[in-house]
Amino acid sequence: MTTDNDVIRDWLERATAVLEEHAAELDELDRAVGDGDHGTNMLRGFRAALDSVVADDSPARNIKHVGMALVSNVGGASGPLFGTFFLRAGQAWGSPVSTASLARAMRLGLEGVVARGKAEVGDATMVDTLAPTIESLEASVAADVDLQDAIGEAVAAAQEGAESTRPLVARRGRASYLGERSIGHLDPGAVSASLLVSTLSADHD
Ligand code: ADP
Ligand code: MG
Repeated sequence: MTTDNDVIRDWLERATAVLEEHAAELDELDRAVGDGDHGTNMLRGFRAALDSVVADDSPARNIKHVGMALVSNVGGASGPLFGTFFLRAGQAWGSPVSTASLARAMRLGLEGVVARGKAEVGDATMVDTLAPTIESLEASVAADVDLQDAIGEAVAAAQEGAESTRPLVARRGRASYLGERSIGHLDPGAVSASLLVSTLSADHD
């Protein structure tokens, strides 16, 4: 029997595999605008997150374990920010997951990221990916779109969001030290957020 925790563990396995595949590329993106560690940071965090899942805990608590693992194991700015995302998302985690509960949990997660990091859309951060992703999920809730289709649209919104950071001047985090020289570079955290959104679909290869 597949439990709701298996769903979370399977997703974390997909997420960790995708980060393994893309860690060097994320480090490279971060080398251009920061200190070159974003892929390494995220991979370390997600390996710890995978180890933190407790079979007997509720899915909501396991999402919080993911948040704690990221806060405790990722040295960079992204650890506390992605960590806060999952800690807050865990507060509204529904199981089984529905389009509405996923949208709600991710909305709370984003509010946590913004409260902590103060980034707005257009500052060239993970927020540029997360905000349109959640807007897409909320539009799907309003239109009664089923979860798999809603995720498909959210993945496209996330990719566009990540891509939107390329022409921007980075205004938060290390990349902001570059000022206008950050123009022309994808924000590494926006790209990793998009990769993570893509893994929500179990069809991901
Ligand atoms: P560090 O910058 O400390 O080396 P990482 O390289 O792991 O940490 O993460 C950098 C990413 O963190 C950026 O690409 C950006 O998406 C995200 N980030 C940094 N500061 C903020 C912030 N204040 N709000 C939202 N996201 C941020
Ligand atoms: Mg870095």
